[in-house]
Amino acid sequence: MKVLKFGGSSVASATNISRVLDIVEAASNDDKVILISSAISGCTDTLIESGRLASLGDSSCLSLLEALCGRHDAIVKRLFTGDERKAVLEELHTVFDELNALVTSILGDKSISDARKQEIQTYGEILSTKILAAKFLAEGCKVKWLDSRDLVRTDGIKVEETITYTNIRKAVESEPGTVIFVAPGFIARDSQGCPTTLGRGGSDYSAALFAAATSADSLQIWTDVPGIMTTNPKTVSAARTIPQMSYESALCMAEHGAKVLYAPTVAPAMASGIAINIKNTFDPANPGTTIENLGKRKICEWMGVSNFSSGEDECICLVADGPIDVDLSLKRAVTALKDAGIVAIDTCSENHCIILKVRKAVEKQACAALHREFFEFAKPSAVDVYVAGHGSVGRSLERFIAAGTGTRAGKEIRLCSISSDRQFVDRVIAEAPRRSVFVDCTNSEDIYRKYVSLLNAGINIVSSNRRSFAVPYVEYAAMKQAALRNGCFLRYNTTVGTALPILESISGSSGYNDDLISIEAVVSCTLNHIITGYDGANTDSFAKLLQKAQIAGLTEQDPRTDLEGKDALRKLLILAREAGVPLEAEDVEVTPMLPEEFFNCSLEDFYSMLEASEPDFIKREAELDALDKRQRFVASIRRDAKSRTGYKAEIKMQLVGTDNPFYWISGTENVIVIKKEFSAPLVIKGAGEGAREAATGVINDIIR
Ligand code: ADP
Ligand code: ASP
Ligand code: MG
Repeated sequence: MKVLKFGGSSVASATNISRVLDIVEAASNDDKVILISSAISGCTDTLIESGRLASLGDSSCLSLLEALCGRHDAIVKRLFTGDERKAVLEELHTVFDELNALVTSILGDKSISDARKQEIQTYGEILSTKILAAKFLAEGCKVKWLDSRDLVRTDGIKVEETITYTNIRKAVESEPGTVIFVAPGFIARDSQGCPTTLGRGGSDYSAALFAAATSADSLQIWTDVPGIMTTNPKTVSAARTIPQMSYESALCMAEHGAKVLYAPTVAPAMASGIAINIKNTFDPANPGTTIENLGKRKICEWMGVSNFSSGEDECICLVADGPIDVDLSLKRAVTALKDAGIVAIDTCSENHCIILKVRKAVEKQACAALHREFFEFAKPSAVDVYVAGHGSVGRSLERFIAAGTGTRAGKEIRLCSISSDRQFVDRVIAEAPRRSVFVDCTNSEDIYRKYVSLLNAGINIVSSNRRSFAVPYVEYAAMKQAALRNGCFLRYNTTVGTALPILESISGSSGYNDDLISIEAVVSCTLNHIITGYDGANTDSFAKLLQKAQIAGLTEQDPRTDLEGKDALRKLLILAREAGVPLEAEDVEVTPMLPEEFFNCSLEDFYSMLEASEPDFIKREAELDALDKRQRFVASIRRDAKSRTGYKAEIKMQLVGTDNPFYWISGTENVIVIKKEFSAPLVIKGAGEGAREAATGVINDIIR
């Protein structure tokens, strides 16, 4: 069995009805067909209006019905001739007489019941389907008109499926010789026996009920557009047909205003596993949209934009075919609206969608803006990315890529694979295409040894792994050389200051006629966190703060690695090298935060010693407070003719006053001060840590 439903515009004229006949006859060549039809377009609106006028005692309701009768007569006169025409007109006029009597009976009845109003609306579908059935009969088809009012049963609110299905099945089975069944959509009967409707747009639902009842092989909804489109094509001309979507996303679009499908249609089809095919009566060769079970969906697979009114305002809904990353998607959508000069008054999300409320006056522009942002991008050039390391940075990166971060810059980032496997890099060297990007989000000490091979294979590198660049200078220089030779990029801006634009500002300005005097940096997030969080007697003891930071995962496993200045050393090496100073670890004078004996004992003893020193720390803090000074762990290079590289490099605790930018940092903030011969100091300050920041910085490096 095939169930084909035609909407109002498909049966609006004799010409259109001829198309319907062709489509249904072709479908009935190899199977039985149930044809469900809406009323001719505008008919239900007219019936509603005539009911309203009647209740107000306005007799012009009868002229509306007369005009409606005229439209139907005109169609019949085009489709039939002779006795057939006479018979069909007679049949229709009997229906119109009944309708006239009903409307006349309520003239002036202000308290007309809702049930009565519904009953008036049921006539439209009876009229259109009577014409269709008569035409099939005239063409010699084995056709039977079914009265949906006797088959589809509601309890006054919702459809009673079991009774409905039994009724439909019986009606079909009792007519084994019939090939084409014609049944009105939209209409039903309630438990009181009164004719009623399934709600505006309800013919789609009728079709799904007939399909589910007969376990149909095919459920086709024929309308005036080529399927469910990325948005209403009458609002945005760039809308495209969505070839395939899941029941869930179709439901979500329908529930949020995509009129092309009546939302209750989805459940019966989905429960019986019947695919819904939405097609265009005026372009039957177009495959349209198929709605079916699609299994597990990827994150943020955008399907379309729909809209519905909400009081004074309009809600614009962006629907995905699966899970969504709400924060990122809302941000992208709000920005797209802002770019179009539209303010989102409110936002929210549901399972498959995000919803943005705007003023009604800008409804069309808002749909167009979101459609442009999510569906109209010129095919961006694609970058293939292979990510080593599936820790917090790798996972954030994976999420950002899935959410389409990068497409705004005109590049599509394609995540080819992500792995924490040590052999992964060798597979990338062997298999990744030239010009793809290898991203190192690991903490590996030795992965840098593979960098030159990657570059020689024509693969670009983006790395957030600081260890790879704090290697002996010759190796660092060799990697840079290999990148240059192969025309590849080797970017690692996130290794110092995470997403802060530190390295690019240093390397971008080095080599000009403005010699570097010094770089001073407070770049150890861990130490900043602890030092700026400590306030003598007013806070936890220093030992306690450190232990808490260790438990929270903010320090290395042995927090003394941080206190020793190892991480600061790596960063200083990178900073100096970026500025053209070939610094080696041995060139740097590191004064750990605490005396030597704290480092040559067990971790337990270390914490005891630290706790024992607390009175000294409190005293020191009070002295510093009196002087209005703060302690900061500063890494620096400063011009010095006596040093091997021409720069003296140090990492140590320093006292700073209110005139120093280092005084004013808090939490994990980083500050870098770069002084040059001829220009005022450049100060860069900002969030220096976090997986999100690192992933953002990595994306910048990929698409720059
Ligand atoms: P029918 O009378 O065939 O049931 P409807 O008027 O109920 O047709 O639904 C089709 C209309 O839905 C289209 O003409 C179109 O303007 C509107 N529409 C709204 N959103 C969408 C969308 N996302 N895709 C296609 N059509 C849509
Ligand atoms: N004729 C009804 C309406 O206009 C039902 C339908 O078209 O699906 O709402
Ligand atoms: Mg419809």
